[in-house]
Formats: sequence, structure tokens, C-alpha cells
Amino acid sequence: MSCDFLNIANSGVQKLHPYQAGKPTDELERELGITNIVKLASNENPLGLSDSVKVALQKELSELTRYPDANGYYLKQALAEKYAVELQQVTLGNGSNDLLELVARAFVSCENEVIFAQYAFVVYPIVTQAIGAKAVVVPAKDYGHDLDAMADAITNNTKLIFIANPNNPTGTFLEQDEIKSFLTKVPENVLVVLDEAYFEYASADRRGNAIEWIKEFPNLIILRTFSKAYGLAGLRVGYSISNPQIADILNRVRQPFNCNALALKAAETILQDEKYLQESIKLNNAGMADLSTFFREHELEYIPSMGNFITVNVATSGDKVYQELLKEGVIVRPITGYGLPNHLRISIGTQAENQRFKQALVKVLEL
Ligand SMILES: *Cc1c(COP(=O)(O)O)cnc(C)c1O
Repeated sequence: MSCDFLNIANSGVQKLHPYQAGKPTDELERELGITNIVKLASNENPLGLSDSVKVALQKELSELTRYPDANGYYLKQALAEKYAVELQQVTLGNGSNDLLELVARAFVSCENEVIFAQYAFVVYPIVTQAIGAKAVVVPAKDYGHDLDAMADAITNNTKLIFIANPNNPTGTFLEQDEIKSFLTKVPENVLVVLDEAYFEYASADRRGNAIEWIKEFPNLIILRTFSKAYGLAGLRVGYSISNPQIADILNRVRQPFNCNALALKAAETILQDEKYLQESIKLNNAGMADLSTFFREHELEYIPSMGNFITVNVATSGDKVYQELLKEGVIVRPITGYGLPNHLRISIGTQAENQRFKQALVKVLEL
């Protein structure tokens, strides 16, 4: 091979590193030959798939020789109804990650700047760099977004700003009035993606409803997902709500069948399953209280979280503790790659899974 293909890849792509996903349970089983593994590494829903979805998917199997509805009509209609918006404001994605990329591809060029916070979700730098645009990373404040500094970072070249609320991997939360006052400082030709992947977990009296602001701020794009509180991570379905013109533009760049038939059916079904959602939230609240108390009792500093995960400072190498926990059959997420080498991110599991994690951590850290 005489051609170094890396040299001919787009310059932004040359400097990219592949996304490091949480370690799959099967992989650890193969490596260590152990079973009964607990995975608390990818912010997945520990409740398991809803029975209502199982039934709906079974019925859908016989339709799988057909292409899915390219417009996702029924799901969009259900979302539009739920959030009191026009159907034309909804865009579906192969997970909300798909939408992060669609927004960047549709609007950002290599002359542009994209602003996001230090410790922000790793997909933001990936989609920015893949286009060859300049990433403007604004230092965090108390592990969260410093919105004043982010507003100050806007230049004539800024095209897009990513904000995750609650943020992953830190779980930090911005109040509604903070975000709103930030939006008033952003020029209308700069898009703001408000990534609310953990919206359903955030406290009901504080999370508000940013969808209502789209009329006042037409440059605002809200992203939500079925991967977390709705428990459909494996099916890949997320959505954006924006002003109709932005939705029309996203619709031009997306792949025609970016949401598969099972994903559409499952999402339509779970949207009606209020009981599953409430159970997810209840389980998460209980686990969050449990782990927070545990960390306090053992004097481990943690970042208060509004998501379905909690990030803790283990006061030593997070990578090492991660490796030791693997030997105990517990998979968590080291976040050295985010610039937090002494922290681990723990997804909230079932009561039994949280218990396994606590026991393993006590053993590994000799607490
Ligand atoms: C999990 C997550 C998403 C959602 O990803 P999907 O592609 O919908 O599975 C989006 N943003 C953040 C910050 C996340 O943590």
C-alpha cells in the first residue's frame, strides 16, 4: 500500500479519535470469563424494555421486508401533539446523535466556529472536527456551562452553539432563566442546540419547557431522545423540535430512512406508556439518593447530578479504579478523555446493581 490514506482524509478527520463507547457486557465476559456482570457505563435504562414495546415490536416483525415510513408520520404526529407544536417542527434522527451531526452538516462549514463547554458531550467535538470547523471550547464553571463566557466567545464566525442540559458527563444543570437570558445574547443567525437527552430525569419543577421558547428564539433547536428515560437505546431514535424552516433544512440532509421501522414503532408505543416513564424516574431518583448518600458517607466528592448517572472523584487514577472494578464484574465509565482523570461516571442502575457497585468500590478503594 503506497498511499497513506490518512494523508488524503479531510484535515479535520485526520485529527479525530474514534468515540470510546462504554464496554459491552459480552466483551468483559469474553475477556475475564466471568458472568453476572453489572454495566453502569452508558446511561442506559436499568428497567429493561417495556412490555408494551415488546408486544408492539413482535407485531411489527412481519412488516420488516418493507421500508419504514420515510417521514415517520405517526411518531412525528404523536410528538407534535405531546408538545403542542406543528408536525413540521419535528425532525427524527437515528438517535439524537444523528441530529447533532445533521445540524452541523446542514449549517456549519470549515470557516465557521462552533462553541461548546469544557466537559461537554464528546459528540460535539466529533461532529465539529469532522467538518473541519473550529471548536471553541469554553472553560467550565463548577463542572458546568459558563454561559456568560460562552456568550462572550461568540464572534462573526460563530455558527452553532451546543448546550447539554443536564450535561453529560458531569450531570450539571442550568436553570431556565439562565438559559433564557443567554439566548437573548445570541444573534439570530447563530444556532443554539439545547441537547436535553436527560430532560425527563431532571426535577419536574425546575426543568421547565424550552420548547415554548422557539417562537421567541427561532434559532433554538431542542434535542431529545428515546435512549434514556424511555429505555430504547438499542433502537436508536431521537428527535429535534425547531422552527419549521430549520426542520425543513435538516430534512434535506438526512438519509431518507434514518429511523428504522422497529424504532418508529417502539417510540410511538413507549410515548403512550406513561407508567414506564414514571417508573424509570422513580427508580432513578431512588438510586441517585442511594449513591449520593454512599459517596457522602465515604467522603468521596461527587458532582450533584440531574441525569441518570453520577460522577464521582475517586481521588486517584480513575482508569486504574475502572480496571479494578472490571475484575469485580462492574463496568463504569472512566472519563480521563474528558479531562477528568480522577473521576468515574456511574450510571444509576437497579437497587441490586447499585449495591454491587458499592460493594465493589468499597473493596477496590479499601473504604
Ligand atoms: C445519551 C446522550 C444523547 C443521546 O444519544 P442518542 O443518540 O439519542 O442515543 C445525546 N446527548 C447527550 C449529552 C447524551 O448523553
